Amino acid sequence: MTRQAIMALAGNPNAGKTTLFNQLTGARQHVGNYPGITVDHKEGLLDHKGTRITITDLPGTYSMTAYSVEELVARDYLISHRPEVVINIVDASNLERNLYLTCQFLELGVPLVIALNMIDVARDRGIEIKAEKLAELLGVPVVPIIARSGFGKDKLIDEALALAGKKLPWQPRDISYGDDLDAAVAALVTRIEAAHFLDGLYPPRYVAIKYLENDEQIVAKGSDTDPATASELEAIVSKVGEHTTRTLDVYPEAIIADHRYGYIKSILRQGVVTHQFDTDRLYTSDRIDKVLTNRLIGPVIMLAILFGVYQFTFSWSEWPVALLEDFFGWLSASIETILPDGLLKSLVISGVIDGVGGVLGFVPLIMFMFFAIAILEDSGYLARVAYMMDRVFRIFGLHGSSVMPFIVSGGIAGGCAVPGVMATRTLRSPKERMATLLTVPFMNCGAKMPVLALLIGAFFSENKAQYMFLFTMLAWIVALLAARLLRSTVLRGAPTPFVMELPPYRFPTLRGLLIHTWERTWQYIKKAGTVILGISILLWAMMTFPQLPADRVAGYAAMRQNVAAGKLLEIDKRQAEEALRHSLAGRIGTAIGKVSHLAGFDWRTNIALIGGFAAKEVIISTLGTAYSMGEVDTEQTDSLGERLKKDANWNRVVAVAALVFIMFYAPCFVTVVCIAREASWRWALFSIGFNTVFAFTLAVLVFQIGSFFHLG
Ligand code: GDP
Ligand code: MG
Repeated sequence: MTRQAIMALAGNPNAGKTTLFNQLTGARQHVGNYPGITVDHKEGLLDHKGTRITITDLPGTYSMTAYSVEELVARDYLISHRPEVVINIVDASNLERNLYLTCQFLELGVPLVIALNMIDVARDRGIEIKAEKLAELLGVPVVPIIARSGFGKDKLIDEALALAGKKLPWQPRDISYGDDLDAAVAALVTRIEAAHFLDGLYPPRYVAIKYLENDEQIVAKGSDTDPATASELEAIVSKVGEHTTRTLDVYPEAIIADHRYGYIKSILRQGVVTHQFDTDRLYTSDRIDKVLTNRLIGPVIMLAILFGVYQFTFSWSEWPVALLEDFFGWLSASIETILPDGLLKSLVISGVIDGVGGVLGFVPLIMFMFFAIAILEDSGYLARVAYMMDRVFRIFGLHGSSVMPFIVSGGIAGGCAVPGVMATRTLRSPKERMATLLTVPFMNCGAKMPVLALLIGAFFSENKAQYMFLFTMLAWIVALLAARLLRSTVLRGAPTPFVMELPPYRFPTLRGLLIHTWERTWQYIKKAGTVILGISILLWAMMTFPQLPADRVAGYAAMRQNVAAGKLLEIDKRQAEEALRHSLAGRIGTAIGKVSHLAGFDWRTNIALIGGFAAKEVIISTLGTAYSMGEVDTEQTDSLGERLKKDANWNRVVAVAALVFIMFYAPCFVTVVCIAREASWRWALFSIGFNTVFAFTLAVLVFQIGSFFHLG
């Protein structure tokens, strides 16, 4: 092997990058991580007609801005490694969207070859693309390929090697961004060239565009290396920014994006793409979307589907939930008779069975819910929800890309805020990202669901699905309002553009649905058996120690001697209650009671709510423990819901106040850590404080107004 060449493979996610990479390099590849971040880094070798080629698989991106880790990695790689050729793989069945990234490669000026992939899919959909015409208009080689079969790959590498052989310097493409911005680009380029600003790193025109796009990385690098010139450039940018916002009500960034799409459209319109099918024969997906994402009917259908999910979940899970409840009731009753009275018995019954059993009892409910969600997800409907919600989200200062994190966190039902917080990584603007990150914990995650189900089941048993629906709506409304509040105060800033492609609808396979459902259900069970068990035992200990002093116990014993048999239970109950109050948890609960009574929460509920800081499931297990400790009737195997209903401190108004508080107060511990990792500890602490104060205010309002009108 004499010749060597270095190439990079880039493209949108799902364009077929990995498929092509495997076709080209076979087993000769190795995966690593980019230092310090968790983005895959793959490199492979290929021998082609006497040349040894090293190919790097860049992370899939839609854009080349500095908003996400993937984009930064892709860009930094190109800048620092200067590959001889970049192979840009584009999805022919989705050409317009894919060429957006291509356009940015052209603006950067890298030597480019386009691999026009999935021509088989395009052909099936009746789309014909004239590769030569496209190559001519774009000014770069275009090779049609089918990555899956390997068709066209040799020709692709031939073209890439030919281009590498020319050793061309980077030639940034001039694209017009309209009069205002073109003038600004020219002014910026003059300054950049005169000052040799960021020389050798990026082409001057590219730096100018990035300044206009307010690219954080390049702006920061600029002011580090040459603060004087940087501030001159920033002055030019802010002047034109003011002008465009005043005259057009948009930021330069959005204008640039628009003109890129304009550039692509103008190319595609010149006979590059022809549709063989006549226009009114839409593809099935598009036809379904005409209805499902219709501006008026779409949201109505969405709400109906959501409601259907709850109806299905509650009605189908009713008897298995009852069965499990009976089972755990029977288990406690059996252990009650087997074990001798004492700490061990209390630990097993109150700590373990009432705690973990309470959480496990909801497994069927969770399972049916996950199943319904899996159908929505696998069929492609969830993407439509994101698409429709985007319009709403903009009003509240969020971004279309915020929708998925919300749904992942439990926006429809039973998610988790931890992956939700991580999913915000796809958001480009830091402020929109922060606003999303801080509000996703408001969604009803899988851990809150059982708490909701418990309280709704106990106090609103006649209309469970309706109430569930209502509380889901409430979560969204509150989250969006909170986002609006954040975006107009601590996180004020401009919106960024959003483009989303809708994947075609698919019939979910039963196998896929079952796997998805089981994976998530198993997560839930595992958590109940490990983390929740641990916390439950810890809280049991806090509710048991310190124990009542010996003289008090003796006092009760003496009392028992002197009363009629019928009164014995009464005394047992008083003793149990005093013991609980005497314990560490009881003291904390009682202390907080001075404030919490404003929202109708008694000291026992407080204990559970404190437990909820650790994990929301713990609210159920702790309520279970707190109410089983107070309950000493040995024949008593009432479910927790029943016990709450009978308790004097609980009624419908208290239940709603508690629900509101539980839905919105501090995120669970793991989520807080995750927020700290993704943002900072300051924001993590902010979310604890802000959410708790906010939730308590709402709960007090609910309780005070509800009590005033005697709604309990
Ligand atoms: P990446 O995200 O860019 O790495 O995309 P992948 O390589 O994972 O491909 C996404 C999907 O498209 C996979 O299911 C591939 O099997 C499929 N795919 C890739 N190339 C082709 C192609 O040329 N034709 C067809 N029909 N499918 C393809
Ligand atoms: Mg891939």
